[in-house]
Amino acid sequence: KPKVKSDIEIAQQSPMKPIVEIAEKIGLHVDDLELFGKYKAKLSTDALKKLETNKNGKIILVTSINPTPAGEGKSTVTVGLGDAFTKIGKKAIIAMREPSLGPTMGVKGGATGGGYSQVLPMEDINLHFTGDLHAITTANNALAAFIDNHLQQGNQLGIDPRRIVWKRALDMNDRALRKVVIGLGGPVQGVPREDGFDITVASEIMAVLCLSTDLKNLKERLGRMVIAYNYDKQPVTVADLGVQGALTMLLKEAVKPNLVQTIEHTPAFIHGGPFANIAHGCNSVIATKTATRLADYVITEGGFGADLGAEKFLHIKSRSAGIKPEAVVIVATIRALKMHGGVPKNDLGREDVQALMNGFANLKKHIETIESFGLPFVVAVNRFITDTEEEVKTLMDLCEQANIPVSLTEVWEKGGAGGVDLANKLLEVIEKEESNFQPLYDLSDTLENKIITIAQKVYGADKVEFSSKSKKQLQDFESFGWGTMPICMAKTQYSLSDDPTKLGRPTGFSITIRELKPSVGAGFIVALTGDVMTMPGLPKSPAALKMDVDENGNAIGLF
Ligand code: ADP
Repeated sequence: KPKVKSDIEIAQQSPMKPIVEIAEKIGLHVDDLELFGKYKAKLSTDALKKLETNKNGKIILVTSINPTPAGEGKSTVTVGLGDAFTKIGKKAIIAMREPSLGPTMGVKGGATGGGYSQVLPMEDINLHFTGDLHAITTANNALAAFIDNHLQQGNQLGIDPRRIVWKRALDMNDRALRKVVIGLGGPVQGVPREDGFDITVASEIMAVLCLSTDLKNLKERLGRMVIAYNYDKQPVTVADLGVQGALTMLLKEAVKPNLVQTIEHTPAFIHGGPFANIAHGCNSVIATKTATRLADYVITEGGFGADLGAEKFLHIKSRSAGIKPEAVVIVATIRALKMHGGVPKNDLGREDVQALMNGFANLKKHIETIESFGLPFVVAVNRFITDTEEEVKTLMDLCEQANIPVSLTEVWEKGGAGGVDLANKLLEVIEKEESNFQPLYDLSDTLENKIITIAQKVYGADKVEFSSKSKKQLQDFESFGWGTMPICMAKTQYSLSDDPTKLGRPTGFSITIRELKPSVGAGFIVALTGDVMTMPGLPKSPAALKMDVDENGNAIGLF
């Protein structure tokens, strides 16, 4: 049996075209680009401005069933679908998130797709890329320094050092920094207080950058971010400190979208990558909107399953950016559905049609959710070579019997050619069915009702229980004027419920809201269900142990 090539081997063996050539395909000139070497570029501010009046292409949102450790391949399908559109002669651009080094060094591996559906140069994109994450980390920590300096210099704003909510950030999984004490050593060293670190992608600045529409809007949003509460328990913002200009300056390059290409030379914007639990988990609005001005079809994705990523794309990103998808792709794998049907992770290699049929309930729920938003969709079955004929037939039959549009997708193995059927089926549903996109809640609803609506309609919960802390916060937040913001749920991605062990389609459960957190700059209120990790740790044997470089400087073992 021939050895299956790793993602990085495939990526390194795939010849790239100069990025200038890729840009020309979508009507951009070399002067519109700020080049980072031969294969990466940012779009210049002038180019972004010039494009504002261009017509708008159609957005296709890629989401999935609840993820399992078996892996769903959402990014892989996103990339492959972009290539498939190119293959059938459509002008398409992919718009995805940029990877964080934490998961790269940990377990998950890259975020650049897989097999023959990858974006290139995969090494660079997964490592330091064009420095956006560095800039966000720097802006985050500059703000932290300004806050501590304010305390040191007399604390004119009356910030309560025990109620500072702004943390420091680092783009790495580093559990030892979750809780730290700073300012020790006497009066010259600052004011001692408890602090902590978040991973950069969990920083509100990442969410702000991704939801901003331009530099001016970025500055306004940064100014609105809440950093602390004063001794009267009133919020203190970045604008109160007066440093929104400095932070915007640090981010002025990072806000420009990055252009790269797929293995098959389809243009791809890789820009911004907020966490999908504490934040909304989508690439930047600037990249998505710019892509719609340059192509007829824009393929983009939301993090985790449809209960988190798609819900947030539709309630947060779409509304704030004034965009909407024309159709949705719901990615499922037979392996993951078998897990939802009760098969333990280590037995997934064995055929189990009954478990697949049981696990189908999870996919069914996500389909119902997308339908409730009024959006046409196609289910993409991301085929693994280990899936048996019987299993594939069972899943396709289950869909066809229920009149669910479905496509067997082989983009991992075949690149764009493996997604042509999916692309054609999408064109068909877009043509046939009107997208009657409708959010499930109005922004004018109370924060409490918005949370209940998401829990009942998207998760299938019976009811929501609010902790006494969160009840008090609901009142406070409404009184601070934050009541009209959308909700960003922080919930486990593994289950429709807030209990990661409840796979499939759980019923008869309640969702517990432990605490709320304002992300006023991003423009949403985070509702925390269980314990949400904003600084992950590394596993016992991190992916880093397999990494190296050869003597020519090529990365090895990046997955
Ligand atoms: P997600 O976006 O859902 O997290 P990715 O697209 O990043 O998933 O894929 C995760 C991993 O699974 C990648 O290493 C990719 O190569 C692998 N993968 C995806 N689809 C397939 C497939 N059909 N067969 C084998 N491996 C796959």
